[in-house]
Amino acid sequence: MLQLKGNKAVVVGLGYRTGLATCNFLAQRGFAVTGNDIKSLDELGSVIEKMNPSVRIIAGMQSPDILAEGFDFLVISPGVPRTIPLIREAEARGIPVIAEIELAYRYMKGYIVGITGTDGKSTTTSLVGHVLSGLGIHTLVGGNIGIPLISLVDETGDNSVSVIELSSFQLETIDAFRPHAAAMLNITPDHLDRYTNMDEYTAAKMRIAKNQTADDAFVYYRDDARIARFLDSVGAKKFGFSLADDDADAFLRDDAIHMRWNGIVQRILDTRAMKLVGRHNALNAMAAMLMACAILRRMDIEIDEQRIARLIADFPGLPHRMERLGEFEGRTFINDSKATTVGAVEMALEGFRGNAVLILGGRTKGDDYSRLAKKLEGKIRALVLLGESKNEFSKLFASFSPLIADSLEDAVRLAMQASRPGDAILLSPACASFDMFRSYEHRGEVFRSIFEGLKKGDIRWT
Ligand code: ADP
Repeated sequence: MLQLKGNKAVVVGLGYRTGLATCNFLAQRGFAVTGNDIKSLDELGSVIEKMNPSVRIIAGMQSPDILAEGFDFLVISPGVPRTIPLIREAEARGIPVIAEIELAYRYMKGYIVGITGTDGKSTTTSLVGHVLSGLGIHTLVGGNIGIPLISLVDETGDNSVSVIELSSFQLETIDAFRPHAAAMLNITPDHLDRYTNMDEYTAAKMRIAKNQTADDAFVYYRDDARIARFLDSVGAKKFGFSLADDDADAFLRDDAIHMRWNGIVQRILDTRAMKLVGRHNALNAMAAMLMACAILRRMDIEIDEQRIARLIADFPGLPHRMERLGEFEGRTFINDSKATTVGAVEMALEGFRGNAVLILGGRTKGDDYSRLAKKLEGKIRALVLLGESKNEFSKLFASFSPLIADSLEDAVRLAMQASRPGDAILLSPACASFDMFRSYEHRGEVFRSIFEGLKKGDIRWT
């Protein structure tokens, strides 16, 4: 394990919540903290205001020269690639570089559940949190989901469970981090702008299990061939979930989730009773079920499967993920702004039979979007393209005669015109939002306000 000696620390990446929380965490514990970001002081404005005054800031540059004065360790925020010269140079000089997750881990108490994968992390993380807190367990939810883990450290206790969403970026710089239960939900292409290939991306995610031992649990999607290739290296007890394979520890049969424990199969939950809809959420529910059971066993708490099933069924889901906004003139508006990958859009289209008008596009992330074209066949009535990707996509999806929009409002208008009563208008972009919006949340909120504008008559579509 990397030893963190000394008290001179640099926190790299201040632009978002994590860097700020990390600086303040270390400053409160008496470290001499330098915060660094490529952004200028002006751009960092609101972050700096909330910073402990003892933190020194180096802004507007990220040169390896910073290291000349001698630091004991670096903590990097999840948005910062490990490949930048500053980090490379620190590593070359033997200065420990750790993730915020790793720093938090060294101070945390209690039990840890870690969740990674390409899609479904936030939903599953919240779902596990919902189940465990519903069982009366002191539960904390954080990580990539938007609440820096470091900000939760002081709330952890010997019998608390921290349920942590982890991105591949966060996992790249863990060292001793070891969750009692870990989950690998799925691997589909994403962030190939940052990784050279799929194996490298999968390997980064599989680091979630690297320190686990036979006392721990590793929950994984059994139908995923990419995950299967890495299973031999997992030292934890493995629990697979599957849509099809009745030999799995959790599987779907006749629309119901079944679990196998000590060779006995039990029917646990009819997925039609769940507020979360879609096959992908059946997968997320199975993962959550297996993780909840694993952690309860570890804590020596008796498992009441039916109670867990009821809690899963009642979970309302998170905004911007297949969120039904309501109906307007017979069209159901669905906000899936969080669908920033091809895999997520494929899942979103699952239940449709030519009755969806899909709004697609934004900032691409190196995925192979042509494979989506095949998946759209028979699912959509019309396709509306939005954002930076529209020229590229209009060629890729030419066979669908896509409509081209200048704004999200324009896209909704075109979607209304192309749809019929009974259809869904689905915002599921397969891309990041940053070409036109501050975040996927912002994109989803704009979509919601357009929907509300239509209902109130403030926005006309004819
Ligand atoms: P993440 O945090 O991993 O980005 P979310 O729970 O926020 O995942 O869901 C993101 C998108 O992925 C949503 O559009 C959702 O419909 C879709 N999705 C959720 N779970 C899965 C899954 N198991 N497989 C594929 N897509 C999924």
